[in-house]
Amino acid sequence: MGRVDLHLHTTHSDGQHRPSEVVRLASDAGLKLIAVTDHDTVGGIAESATAAARYGIGFIPGIEISTAHAQEQHMLGYYIDPGAPVLREICLHFMQLRDERIGNTIEYLHRCGIMITRADVQAEAPGTYLGRPHIAAAMVRAGYAADINEAFKKYLATDAYRKTPRPKPTAVESIEAIRAAGGTAALAHPDSLHLEAGALSRHVGELKSFGLAGLECCYGTYSRAQTALYVEIAKQHDLIVTGGSDFHGLAIKPDVMIGSGRNHLLDYNDLSVAEALKAAADA
Ligand code: AMP
Ligand code: FE
Ligand code: FE
Ligand code: ZN
Repeated sequence: MGRVDLHLHTTHSDGQHRPSEVVRLASDAGLKLIAVTDHDTVGGIAESATAAARYGIGFIPGIEISTAHAQEQHMLGYYIDPGAPVLREICLHFMQLRDERIGNTIEYLHRCGIMITRADVQAEAPGTYLGRPHIAAAMVRAGYAADINEAFKKYLATDAYRKTPRPKPTAVESIEAIRAAGGTAALAHPDSLHLEAGALSRHVGELKSFGLAGLECCYGTYSRAQTALYVEIAKQHDLIVTGGSDFHGLAIKPDVMIGSGRNHLLDYNDLSVAEALKAAADA
């Protein structure tokens, strides 16, 4: 039974639960060390840090920055200072571009015959952050898809959709912002880059030369074989092995449980990772 989960989302990005609820769920699941890693924002850190202290759970302030890549490349930042101006600036800038992208995505969907509006999408979001899961939820509500996964599979995770990209920071810019904010960077869910093992290892090695310190080898949907491959790549480059479920709440990712992922695939227990990440952040 895993006791560590370093990849959690709240209502400040595309998670279902408020920060204090996420921490309560973590406590209920018996977790001892967590990190809140909302997409492109540190808005949920203060509330979750307070809740974690109340529940007596180790807490790492985190972020997950979407970066430019042909596929999906997300950079996790740990022990970032949520007040750091450099991070706030990069988040604000790319949040504005994210918001513009929602308009482009709605236009793309209209071309596909899916007539949802921005108001429909906003109705699915608890705050100002709008992401693809909120668009998917609006599509489900309007009857265009059976569930969120189907909306992604048919429309939002397709090559056609990728032609309406949004500008994002480069991986190197994201590493630099995380480091400038006093934190340390780890590459999230490496399978999402869709690289074969050799190419992935070379890519990771290059990111390491720009300051990457960790690799998310343990993940809510990874098989043992996948995890073993990523641990091997982490070893090749002397990177910290990190792990997390990528919990968003069961209404958004129905099969991904906090702390244990899908079908208990996640079993991450390395409490010493906190010290390793802190040391890398301070280096
Ligand atoms: P965005 O940052 O708006 O492009 O949305 C990315 C988010 O959508 C990810 O963080 C996941 O929460 C979710 N997501 C991405 N791909 C899928 C998928 N194939 N099925 C379900 N959710 C997905
Ligand atoms: Fe997400
Ligand atoms: Fe991600
Ligand atoms: Zn995530």
